[in-house]
Amino acid sequence: MIYLDNSATTQLDAAVLEEMLPWLRQEYGNASSIYEMGRRARVAVERARTEIAGLIGAHPAEITFTSGGTESNNSVLKSVLSESGLADRLCVSAIEHHAVLHPADQLREQGIHVEVLPVSQHGVPLEHALHAFASSRTLFSIMHANNETGSVQPLAAVRNAIGTSLLHSDAVQTLGKIPINVGELGVDFMSFSAHKLHGPKGIGAMFIRKGIDFKAHQQGGGQERNRRAGTEPVALIVGFAAAVRMAVHNMETHATHMQACIDRARTRILAGIADVRVNTPSENALPNVLNVSFRDANRLDGEAILQAMDMAGVAVSNGSACTSGSLQPSHVLQAIGLSVDEAKAAVRISVSKYTTFEEIDTACTLLSGVVRDMRV
Ligand code: PLP
Repeated sequence: MIYLDNSATTQLDAAVLEEMLPWLRQEYGNASSIYEMGRRARVAVERARTEIAGLIGAHPAEITFTSGGTESNNSVLKSVLSESGLADRLCVSAIEHHAVLHPADQLREQGIHVEVLPVSQHGVPLEHALHAFASSRTLFSIMHANNETGSVQPLAAVRNAIGTSLLHSDAVQTLGKIPINVGELGVDFMSFSAHKLHGPKGIGAMFIRKGIDFKAHQQGGGQERNRRAGTEPVALIVGFAAAVRMAVHNMETHATHMQACIDRARTRILAGIADVRVNTPSENALPNVLNVSFRDANRLDGEAILQAMDMAGVAVSNGSACTSGSLQPSHVLQAIGLSVDEAKAAVRISVSKYTTFEEIDTACTLLSGVVRDMRV
């Protein structure tokens, strides 16, 4: 199988697994236990926290481990607007992941003022909308990079536009792929997930800027400095830190390779298929994503394209949610101006450090054939 859906999840790096194994086998102590086995687990957890913090310009106390991006997004939004009472209004961009949009819907149902901000054709929130809602009692949630198109948001400019408002950013797709320095970006909160960068599933983190009085969204034990109850999954945390270390240390090499794969795919698709619309911006985009759709999409069955690729042995996606077995037209692509048909007939290719040029060539040839067959 040719796996070109690395924005959905990635292959666990063998070296990451190696670092995790002792914590799954003999070192099974609870990091909250006071005897030696527990203390060893605690040291491993804190070492991982310090390492991850150092790689994003944060202080270790600003990192709270969670089960992943979904939980981090939910916890930040719900805690800031509810438990912590730090804001009364939530502004989210129209292209956020459902792990931001759905908690925002729930908060709206509970009476919180929620605004969905329009974006430009490149997926960037419009500046006048940012200005309009800026206030010290507003939380903005603006993702660092979009999971469907790969567009990267100018967070430092967003910070300038929103003044003293609070800023959360979903960085699930950017960690390890483009540099992150929480101070330079001006964020108060950030969400991360390990399984998008060759780490294990079920582990992630939230960055919470020092000095913010953050009250836990879920109650239980006092783990994670009372910010996230639940026994720390030591092996997953160790694997998360290993994955971030390997990704950040090799970022330039991997980004160059992934960008070469994406450039090759773009060239081949544009040469082999007529009437293609490229939905990934040519600048300010992740190095590993290419999203395309078709101008005559009303004549093509978007779902059938993905199924035909699957039958040919290529895993690609359109990046949007699959509900009840049928693809929903992407809210992201519609927000940047595509029709429902074009949004349904999108194909997202997302590569990793493991992707080869041969795989790209085979996948592009197959995609040309699939689209050609559907057009006759
Ligand atoms: N945010 C973005 C932008 C994502 O792409 C994803 C995963 O698809 C998530 C959040 C959810 O992350 P997790 O799978 O770790 O819950």
